[in-house]
Amino acid sequence: MAVFVNFKICDNAKECGGVEVCPTGAFSWDEEKETIVLDNQKCISCGLCEKECPIGAIRVGKTEEECQKIEKEIQDDPRTTKDLFVDRYGAAPLSEFFLIDVSDVSNKIKNKGLTFIEAYKDDSIQCLLKSIPIKELTSDLAKDTLFYKTEVDDKFVGDYDLYIFPSLLIFQNNQYLGKVSGYYTVDDKDDLIESIYQIIEK
Ligand code: SF4
Repeated sequence: MAVFVNFKICDNAKECGGVEVCPTGAFSWDEEKETIVLDNQKCISCGLCEKECPIGAIRVGKTEEECQKIEKEIQDDPRTTKDLFVDRYGAAPLSEFFLIDVSDVSNKIKNKGLTFIEAYKDDSIQCLLKSIPIKELTSDLAKDTLFYKTEVDDKFVGDYDLYIFPSLLIFQNNQYLGKVSGYYTVDDKDDLIESIYQIIEK
């Protein structure tokens, strides 16, 4: 019947899986306007796009009643684009509470597997990996890899010698392995993957 995108939490990137899987062109990417475009005249409610979104930003209604319910849920959704982290880093979706306080970092990094902490300052709230879904970067990593994002304080900056934001810090079993700093675009994807793996495989 109809497809909906919750743009409160959607990062509206052209790599959206919904664009790739839609068999009818109902879910597409407008190159000129740089946005996802929905054409419900073409939507057959197959649900393929919905399955592609790790945070549930894509919703498909098969009846009028379902559509109304979805619209209301989107309207009432209190989340914001800060929650993009789950989407971009959606290889192992956490919970909607992935944004952690800097004081919680020491606890989170006790995870035996890999833990990625994206450190940002309030003037660098944009994601480190612009338009690159983390699942593309980390598909070879263990499923227990965790991802968090935290706004840093001066102590944290000093502890990890941070001077470029955002920075992606990588930990394993309470050990700091290293960091990648700055913004990366789709064109830099291979460089970013290489940097991450260099740190992990050291
Ligand atoms: S439900 Fe199917 S047809 Fe409709 S937008 Fe999603 S993938 Fe395309």
